[in-house]
Amino acid sequence: MSDPRSQIPSIDALLASPGAERLLEDTGRSQLADAFRDAVVKMRRAIEREDIKIVELVDDLKWYTEHAAQVLIRARIPGLRRVINATGVVLHTNLGRAPLADEALQAMRHAATYSNLEFNLHEGVRGSRYTHCVDLLCELTGAEDALVSNNAAGALVLAISTVGLGKSVAVSRGELVEIGGGFRIPDVLERSGASLVEVGSTNRTRSADYESAAARGEVTAILKVHRSNFRITGFTEEVSVSQLVSIGESHGIPVVHDLGSGLMLRGAKLDLPDEPMASDSIAAGADAVVVSGDKLLGGPQAGIIVGRREMIERMRRNPLCRALRVDKVTLAGLEATLRLYRDPVSVIERIPTLRMLALKPEALKETAETLASHLKIAKVPCEVVPTKGAVGGGTYPGVELDSWAVELTWPHGAGILSDALRAGDTPVVGRIIDEKLRLDVRTLLPGELTSVVTQVAEAFIEGDKAGV
Ligand SMILES: *Cc1c(COP(=O)(O)O)cnc(C)c1O
Repeated sequence: MSDPRSQIPSIDALLASPGAERLLEDTGRSQLADAFRDAVVKMRRAIEREDIKIVELVDDLKWYTEHAAQVLIRARIPGLRRVINATGVVLHTNLGRAPLADEALQAMRHAATYSNLEFNLHEGVRGSRYTHCVDLLCELTGAEDALVSNNAAGALVLAISTVGLGKSVAVSRGELVEIGGGFRIPDVLERSGASLVEVGSTNRTRSADYESAAARGEVTAILKVHRSNFRITGFTEEVSVSQLVSIGESHGIPVVHDLGSGLMLRGAKLDLPDEPMASDSIAAGADAVVVSGDKLLGGPQAGIIVGRREMIERMRRNPLCRALRVDKVTLAGLEATLRLYRDPVSVIERIPTLRMLALKPEALKETAETLASHLKIAKVPCEVVPTKGAVGGGTYPGVELDSWAVELTWPHGAGILSDALRAGDTPVVGRIIDEKLRLDVRTLLPGELTSVVTQVAEAFIEGDKAGV
């Protein structure tokens, strides 16, 4: 038999084939040529591996057209797309943290066209983007003024570079933390033009440590950083915001609190331990408090600074504010999310992050049973099991959420099944525990159950077809 490589059609021949004509109806010629080149490479590889099933189609134009059509379909899938979170980690950083409320999505859609972002509709003159969300944030936290930026990391840089540029900022040795993604407090201070004055020790820092540094005139601002993503236990001591404020007041130095989580209601309402809220720090007299928009607040990615009027005003005038500015879509989503907090009863139902956190194990078990029964109808063997989830997003470290999951019984290895689920039309991300793939139902959004059933059933069928 002659070398099959000589039978591979030329790209020109493929482009002139009847199948190509159909594909050219919604694809450019050079894009189609690339897709055919991809098919040719695949055929060459099959010839090298002596994969008879494919090699016998070496001169079949239809095989190339079908392969090219698949390549073109894949090229149309957006890079960033919807994923179903079945991990049980509510604020999953890799999956985009907080899922947004319908009200937020709608507001974002509307603002995405033209909006009054920097336009005063009353007077028909130029307005400021920094007026949006301010009233709501002040109402919710009791602060005099507020400022929204791109994210809390940016907000912290802005706050420090405003109060600490060319100054010495005192931070407890127990709070020189890495927030995540290599964002470390000592580096933030350095890049914000402040020099760090370490006070206390890793496990214990007392008022006297700040007091003596301030009395020596070594400190011109105090930064308190909430240990949101880890815990230290045992022989520990830290200084409260109100104590810091009184030290600050007696020496005329401002106190900034980097709080992180953005929780706007008591943890107890979600059956979670208490976490400090921005309103607590404001009540304690902090000059500025920094929180995140897309953690426990449940809104879009944003950084929020609330605090004293003249302090926030200085931050607005800081040139970095322009570099870290928030966009119109985010502001609209944040405003709509904050508005939901005005009704303390319905807010938990309306904001997906809060609703998921408040779900009770009994209700989750029921959902897992529903999912399992639908899967069994689709001939997918599975079992309902208790499981543990997490709040995530670097909040509530060590807190486990009692939940329920559907464990898929698949003989060919959980890794393969998990790959197949991630490759589906709407990727489903679960967790592999003890060599089995678990789908925790806590983090499923309304209406996703059907989609999960379809995707899992398809993955099982594909797996069986491939004979893995
Ligand atoms: C998460 C966190 C940040 C950073 O928030 P982003 O919105 O992710 O930028 C800053 N400080 C603390 C204490 C945090 O927990």
